Amino acid sequence: MKLEPFIQKTEQVLMVPSWSQISDQLIVGFTTKNGGVSKEEFQSLNLGLHVNDENNSVVVNRKKLADFLRFPPELWVCSEQTHKNKIAKVTTDERGTGVFTYEDSIKDTDGLYTTEKNILLTLCFADCVPLYFFAPTKQIIGIAHAGWKGTVQDIAGEMVRAWACEGVKPDEIQVVIGPAIDKCCYIVDDYVMNFVKDLDRVNSKSYEKISNNQYRLDLKEVNYQLMTRAGIPPENIQVSSYCTSCENQLFFSHRRDAGKTGRMMSFIGFKED
Ligand SMILES: [Zn+2]
Repeated sequence: MKLEPFIQKTEQVLMVPSWSQISDQLIVGFTTKNGGVSKEEFQSLNLGLHVNDENNSVVVNRKKLADFLRFPPELWVCSEQTHKNKIAKVTTDERGTGVFTYEDSIKDTDGLYTTEKNILLTLCFADCVPLYFFAPTKQIIGIAHAGWKGTVQDIAGEMVRAWACEGVKPDEIQVVIGPAIDKCCYIVDDYVMNFVKDLDRVNSKSYEKISNNQYRLDLKEVNYQLMTRAGIPPENIQVSSYCTSCENQLFFSHRRDAGKTGRMMSFIGFKED
């Protein structure tokens, strides 16, 4: 039985204590849907600016999170996520992008990494799989958004390859696969499954056929297999067992809430010494 990497710290936030033990300046976690000010389907800690919630409510929610993390919003980076596999290296010059208005988000980018401190990398989620990357030897951190589209485009492997250009070997990379819709609640059809089955060296442990044109798909497992394929040792990979659809008191779920819902935020950043 593997340990759950995320521990709920407050009404609003789950954190990853095993990584904080490696470096106490490393801030890494995932939000819940609770403890914010948004109303109706966004009740209450909606952190996505792009889902037709009141902009001001989202900004208040983001400031609440910033206060708890003691990581001011001016130091955050937010991107426009488009279910592709583009990864951007960000620097202190990009800080503040997409934090208060969606229009100035980093465009068309589903993965972020940095080698610098005092930057909080953030992405928004409501079922898709958050992937967290950390190479303690090089003090490099990253985050990626892997729904089924990003997963079959191997955004996990893209991050490993981007880091290879930074001189980071796959066996130096620690990974956490975060809360996401799990196989208990994620049914897909042949259209999606054909992309999954086309992935080299991804095996049937990640899915189960339940009827004609219906499969249970384990996107966390697919990402796990893609990471090991990219050379990350299995012992470096921690997987959350939280299902965003099952845990309806804790999380928004795009599928469970039929598309009308808010967004959680995954985040990782180093504070300055
Ligand atoms: Zn579930």
